[in-house]
Amino acid sequence: MRFTTDGLILKEQTIKEKDKLVTVFTRSNGLIRCFVRNARNIKSVLSSSTQPLNYSRLSIYEGRDSYIIDEADSIAMFYELREDLEKLSLANYFCEVCCRMLPDGQPADELLSLILNSLYVLLNTDKHPLLIKSVFELRFMGVSGFMPDILCCCECGDYEAEKMYFLLNESKLICSRCYKSGDACPLSRCALMGLRTALLTDPKRLFAFELEGESLYQLADCAEKFLLTHSEQPFPSLLLYKDIRNMN
Ligand SMILES: [Zn+2]
Repeated sequence: MRFTTDGLILKEQTIKEKDKLVTVFTRSNGLIRCFVRNARNIKSVLSSSTQPLNYSRLSIYEGRDSYIIDEADSIAMFYELREDLEKLSLANYFCEVCCRMLPDGQPADELLSLILNSLYVLLNTDKHPLLIKSVFELRFMGVSGFMPDILCCCECGDYEAEKMYFLLNESKLICSRCYKSGDACPLSRCALMGLRTALLTDPKRLFAFELEGESLYQLADCAEKFLLTHSEQPFPSLLLYKDIRNMN
């Protein structure tokens, strides 16, 4: 059986001498792994359109136990991110989060749009990479079934306070008066606004806010720890991104 779909190439591995196996986040089937024959031929359109960070229209043959891509046309190429090592390493982290956390073979339209939008904003705007990273992590978790309770303090019900905490294990907010102990991230008013926007706003307005200084670092710390707490696995690409960011 043959079908056509759009997909973002997340990862590639060389198989034997000429072929490769790519992990693709497709519109129709979610995360799937596909073979690409003769992919080492650098002049072929198929080879270049199935490189990581390419979003392509794919023609896929579905065999008994494998998928084979036999045609690919680029729709959007994000590999210009390669010109900026920090942005590239962040893009690779987004890809790794999708590779490791998405179930195989289940369409996840909203998450595919999320990673495409995140890559677009990373490539085409000068928005702070930490803000893009925070929004991606929080929204990814919210849409993947880890939506935290961020309406108000879980003890007294206050909507906001000068300082609130995000409880990482319980996925709840608590104000500084009610907070006693437990793994938690402090959030200023601005950082809390960022948290609520990233999790709740219309997808089209996801990156339409700004945050800077201490509030940005608070949101970034909270978003990353929230994802790591609930994914329960390390991400090598995240460590690499942090090394590169520290060098800059
Ligand atoms: Zn309270």
